[in-house]
Amino acid sequence: MDKDKTHDNDDNKQNENPLDELKKQLEGLFGGKPVHVDFVPPPFGAMHEPQQEESQEVQDDSDEVLKRIREFSMKPREIRDYLNRFVIKQDEAKKVLSVAICDHYNHVRRCLENPEAKDLEYAKQNILILGPTGVGKTYLMRTIAKLIGVPFVKADATKFSETGYVGADVEDLVRDLVKTANGNVDVAQYGIVYIDEIDKIAGRSEVGGKDVSGRGVQINLLKLMEDSNVNVVSPQDMMGQMQMAMSARGGKKPKRTISTRHILFIVSGAFDKLGENIAKRLNKGTIGFDVDVDFSKDSDNSDYLKFAETSDFIKYGFEAEFVGRLPVRVACESLKPRDIAEILVSSEGSILRQYKEDFAGYGIDFTITPEAVEAVSKLAYQEKTGARGLMTVLERTLRDYKFELPSSGITHFELDTNTVENPKESLKNLLVENGDLMNEVMSADISKFASDYEKNTGFKLVFDLSARRAIIAKAVEADKSAVSVCSELFKDYEHGLAIVSRNSGEKTFEISADCIADSDKWLSDKVVKSFDRK
Ligand code: ADP
Repeated sequence: MDKDKTHDNDDNKQNENPLDELKKQLEGLFGGKPVHVDFVPPPFGAMHEPQQEESQEVQDDSDEVLKRIREFSMKPREIRDYLNRFVIKQDEAKKVLSVAICDHYNHVRRCLENPEAKDLEYAKQNILILGPTGVGKTYLMRTIAKLIGVPFVKADATKFSETGYVGADVEDLVRDLVKTANGNVDVAQYGIVYIDEIDKIAGRSEVGGKDVSGRGVQINLLKLMEDSNVNVVSPQDMMGQMQMAMSARGGKKPKRTISTRHILFIVSGAFDKLGENIAKRLNKGTIGFDVDVDFSKDSDNSDYLKFAETSDFIKYGFEAEFVGRLPVRVACESLKPRDIAEILVSSEGSILRQYKEDFAGYGIDFTITPEAVEAVSKLAYQEKTGARGLMTVLERTLRDYKFELPSSGITHFELDTNTVENPKESLKNLLVENGDLMNEVMSADISKFASDYEKNTGFKLVFDLSARRAIIAKAVEADKSAVSVCSELFKDYEHGLAIVSRNSGEKTFEISADCIADSDKWLSDKVVKSFDRK
């Protein structure tokens, strides 16, 4: 019913001249200054229908998300167990985050149940996650956002500037959340904003005064993390302002602002130097005099981050109010080779699963030996990028395999230490060992070419064994597929074969190695002979 009503409204409005209406809207927007409006039609088909479909979809999705939030009833243990399926290690972070998330969305639910109730006394659980790169900080939060079904955006703190004129404006983060929620402000207001590299905007108070711009960004973020209203369309975004004015023409007015009261903010950073500072502080305290800490191979500086205190952050260059607004702090541990190995084999989001699926797409069963898991993990660890190193190492190892195996006829491939140590050589051996399979695949390709050729031209090419061997040899030598070799050999044949067919009535042609050796000569001989016969 309501929907029909909206349509009626639309119809009435459409009787007015839409350009006059837009002009009025824009003049309103620019404080009554006269605006000239011209209509440039968009390319054919670029208007209306797809947008309507999209907004319909959004509507369905948003109802679902809002219902989930209204009925939020998860327990911290439930969230932790879900995280365990994807994220390896980081037990403390999982617990802390699960509790913070439950507290946050329980509070949101209570506010939705009782909109009149003031929630001033509630301190928002904005979170600070510390830890080296690639250990699962973002992955934890992304996985949680997916579980709850709320929009999630991530950005690096370094891209923001105090004014927003040079770099991006921190409020863009909230606008990005609205974009992720397909423009739905109702859904976006319960989303999660993740800001990485926060340590890079700490003013370096120790090295001659504070970094003013970093301080400015902290203050702006602070306002955002509290409770502020952000314009859904940036004042600098003229196009967006116009769209907003246009859509306001239809009965229902779109929301112009979004409140950040229920948006959860997570900030994170590697805090490289902080670990070292804390280690020094701790050693000084316990031993009683300042000693050089032995940062031995196995004790990473980052392992000290869990002892960070508010004063450490302030010393590092953060504003006291800023750190104060981040009450939930947790450190993620660095990953050792055995953790990386576990990620490879047990995480449900493991990159290995992706490779398995990619190979399965070509009917290839891909496995890895336990020794290779160890070797890959060790190499990944040496990259010093946490679990991200796995992607680098596997990509480097399997790049050529992903290219060659799909055309090789091989249906099972096991990644062993030999392959990890010497991928190119191993691949060459594998292809030679399975040469027969490759020949079969190429031969099947040649038959497919012949059948397509017959469909397109009406002429049947029958390749004998010698021709097939010669084509395969050419393909291997030129590093091409059998089909491309055939296409090149027979690309100008149709006209010649038509003459032969006219003279001799032939429609089927036996092809042997001599034709492949010199296809032009073969065809011209054939044409000449057909005239003789005629
Ligand atoms: P960062 O700590 O820098 O935010 P990410 O969370 O983005 O790192 O990790 C990058 C990728 O590495 C993730 O998408 C995930 O695939 C993998 N990864 C990192 N840490 C873990 C972990 N502890 N368990 C499982 N996978 C992980």
